[in-house]
Amino acid sequence: MRTVRRPAKSLPDDTTEDGAPGERVDEEKGGTVYEGVVQNLIDELGRLPGVGPKSAQRIAFHLLAADPADVTRLTEALREVKDKVRFCSICGNVAEAEQCRICRDARRDTHVICVVEEPKDVVAIEKTREFRGRYHVLGGAISPIEGVGPDDLRIRELMQRLADGEVTELILATDPNLEGEATATYLARLVKPMGLTVTRLASGLPVGGDLEYADEVTLGRAFEGRRLLDV
Ligand code: ZN
Repeated sequence: MRTVRRPAKSLPDDTTEDGAPGERVDEEKGGTVYEGVVQNLIDELGRLPGVGPKSAQRIAFHLLAADPADVTRLTEALREVKDKVRFCSICGNVAEAEQCRICRDARRDTHVICVVEEPKDVVAIEKTREFRGRYHVLGGAISPIEGVGPDDLRIRELMQRLADGEVTELILATDPNLEGEATATYLARLVKPMGLTVTRLASGLPVGGDLEYADEVTLGRAFEGRRLLDV
């Protein structure tokens, strides 16, 4: 993003900015605490995944000093993504229509479904060009520690898709970590009575990591060498 640095305004701690009524000062988090709108921005940024309090503060002050046109583009992009993008009614991938581009594509193989945790995994697998079937996005993985159970994932929707018998292979491409493995095992057991071929991506993926961190070649190979999952 293009940024035009403005002379830094003196916002830090000895704050004299006009405080809006109802502003709050959060003393819980330690470190420098700002008042009102600046702190609201830092709090909101801090709720984003992977953004800690320090990064949130850095991004907030970057935005304060940024060219208004840059900030406008960012807010527009945020608004547009919430207005226009939704989740595919079939697979749960992000979509700009009722159904995503992949589900609408008649050339895709309707006999194979690749189950992933998040839409970003769809992107990672599409990059390998190894897979021509369709996807099912669970929206996460089973994690007792984080209180995520099977009912919190799009598993019921997956079972509905499998009900008519058109799908013959289910590829379980959940992340190669504890939660991903637990989810794959759970699903494999669940669909076992249906008699489909259930496969899991081959080893060689970075264990404990995220599918998206695997490079295209490794992920492509893992796809090609997928193995039958016997539970
Ligand atoms: Zn879809």
